[in-house]
Amino acid sequence: MASKLFIQSSKSTLIIPNIRNFPTYSAAHTRQIHAHILKTGLLIDNFISSNLISSYVNYRCFNEATIILDNIVKPSSSSYRIITNALSKYNLYHNVLHLFSKMLREAVFDDCFILPVVAKACAGISAIKFGRQLHGFAQVSGCFLDQVVQSSIAHMYVKCGQLSVAHKVFDGIPEPDVVTFSALIAGYARTGNVGIVEGLFCDLEKLGLEPNLVCWNGLIAGFNQSGRYIEAIHVFLDMHLRGCQPDGSSFCSVIAAIADLQLLNVGIQVHSYVIKMGFTTNKWVVSALIDMYGRSACVSRMKQVFEEMGCMEIGSCNALVSALARNGLVNDALALFSQMKNEGVDLNVVSWTSIISCCSQNGKDIEALELFIEMQLAGVKPNAVTIPCVLPACGNIAALMRGKAAHCFSIRRGIVNNVFVGSSLVDMYAKCGKIRDSSLCFYAMPTKNTVSWNAIIGGYAMHGHYKKALEMFDLMIANGHRPNSVTYICLLSACNQKGLVDVGWRYFNSMHKEYGVEPKMEHYACMVSLLSRIGKLEEAYSLIKEMPFEPDACVWGALLSSCRVYKNLQLGEIAAKRLFKLEPKNPGNYVILSNIYASKNMWADVDRVRGLMKKIGLKKNPGCSWIEIKNKVHMLLAGDKAHPQMAQILEKLDELGIEMKKAGLDPKIDYVLQDVEEQDKEQILCGHSEKLAVVFGLLNTPAGFPLRVIKNLRICGDCHAFIKFISSIEGREILVRDTNRFHHFEDGECSCGDHW
Ligand code: ZN
Ligand code: ZN
Repeated sequence: MASKLFIQSSKSTLIIPNIRNFPTYSAAHTRQIHAHILKTGLLIDNFISSNLISSYVNYRCFNEATIILDNIVKPSSSSYRIITNALSKYNLYHNVLHLFSKMLREAVFDDCFILPVVAKACAGISAIKFGRQLHGFAQVSGCFLDQVVQSSIAHMYVKCGQLSVAHKVFDGIPEPDVVTFSALIAGYARTGNVGIVEGLFCDLEKLGLEPNLVCWNGLIAGFNQSGRYIEAIHVFLDMHLRGCQPDGSSFCSVIAAIADLQLLNVGIQVHSYVIKMGFTTNKWVVSALIDMYGRSACVSRMKQVFEEMGCMEIGSCNALVSALARNGLVNDALALFSQMKNEGVDLNVVSWTSIISCCSQNGKDIEALELFIEMQLAGVKPNAVTIPCVLPACGNIAALMRGKAAHCFSIRRGIVNNVFVGSSLVDMYAKCGKIRDSSLCFYAMPTKNTVSWNAIIGGYAMHGHYKKALEMFDLMIANGHRPNSVTYICLLSACNQKGLVDVGWRYFNSMHKEYGVEPKMEHYACMVSLLSRIGKLEEAYSLIKEMPFEPDACVWGALLSSCRVYKNLQLGEIAAKRLFKLEPKNPGNYVILSNIYASKNMWADVDRVRGLMKKIGLKKNPGCSWIEIKNKVHMLLAGDKAHPQMAQILEKLDELGIEMKKAGLDPKIDYVLQDVEEQDKEQILCGHSEKLAVVFGLLNTPAGFPLRVIKNLRICGDCHAFIKFISSIEGREILVRDTNRFHHFEDGECSCGDHW
């Protein structure tokens, strides 16, 4: 081989003509030549030293190359350029800046070609201070007249997020090229500044330049980020018509825009285009498609996209879990998640967080809490997004100990000051009956947002502290936070707890006028409930008739349950008729109507409604309560014969019943009638679930220990009276949270003042 010959015969200066253009075959070979050159003293030859440096950088031997540079007496600027170019190619930007400083110190600088490389290095590590100095140096040295240098400095400012300076530099370039345009466009698109993006795009076309892919993508992303989805889609079409082929990034932006608008048909067309262009295995595009179909409730297609990808890629798996969760398909999401686990997909914090959030939003609270533990056992650390997903599950089933554990975890991880973590702690403590802890958390938050204020206002409302709730609202306004739709739901429900009709009307009438919050279905439902619960049924019905949209089941449901309380048959029949259409499968509505008939002794109608229910095949909603004992959440079902402690519970229940009769507190038949809503006759005999849970708590906790029970339906009058009695005879503080509010039972009294 030539090289071998060369080494072997390298004994005289005869080889100089060869060495000037020596070829090298490896780093080791270069070192051999280097040794030879040192021996022969040829390093002083600039050409030879440059060649040697080139060889070293070819094999990424930057140390050796730099040593040569240090050892030559007068290194040329081209030697510097060779090394900096190579360092930049391998993203060793710190070294580039270091070398450039050395070059200036040694006054070797004599050409401008090195400046774009240095500017790129500044951009690569966001060294804005160095970048500014470079900009100054370029101006002083006269290099700034060079258009390539100008463009590179503009690029550098864009990458460092200094868009206005970049724009100034850009404006000084006499004939900017499309690459510089695209850099600026992409920079503005990232910040969502679509107005400037549009302007630049126009300027580009005026100059007769053809926009490149980066420009098109910038324009689409810009429109998308500023919520101008239709325009984003139009630009995508325009781009296609003008023959520019989209890449993954264009597809992701346009699919996201389509997803937001839920334009399923357009989405399907773009999906075909994705297939045609061969992007069906691009993980970003696949995730975007899954999300798009998920938002349009197109479950089969979203699964199909996932399957066609042909592998369990973590990003698209996570997207599918979220999309399934969005469509309430929690069992499918759980199945996919365990498949991911079985197939050894490296689950990250996003995967765990999405499945936990999926469970806690879809009524699988116990599963959410178990997954949270499993996640930590798997060595994945929960973050500031995970905690706000798991805390609602603790709140939903009043798993106070688990909630406290998550709180401690947040303190240890230093994320407790995160505004979302803090807000969810406020909410969790309130829902677990600890309104004091809830307010302590609230005041400890260093920054608060509307969600935090809503959490505390909602907490006070739930606990019947309506004055506090209204006070907090004033404080929120005084602190410069704007109320939103949820704030008003909390306020109206605070009024609802105490029957404050006038205050309720005041908020309802001013929400739009003062803060631009349009009353939605939920606000109307609150008002209807507020009016009808204090017996103003006709007024509630007029409000329903005035509603600017079709009332939903919540609105009619609020009216119907009050019709039962006030035995208003006429309005009850109207509401029930609407409800049978809106939610034909909800057994509660049939039961309430039959109860109204029963209260009027219209037994034939009672039988008719019950017959209707049987014909449709409806069973009553099973009552269900939860109680946390020793860090474990127990669920009790009405009429649950399989429960291991049921015999004991029933025995204790009998005992207490006898005591109650002795005390002259006979449960009224009317109560039983009123609440057959949610329970069967058989279930009534066995006791409602909240009664069972309270007795279960009495049996399994030491005397004097407070009990905390959650119920999935409203508490009935019979149970309410029974629990009041237990709180006095057993000397226990008992908290029951039903779907509506909290009941604090103490010394035979309830905090709701028997108004619920
Ligand atoms: Zn009951
Ligand atoms: Zn009560």
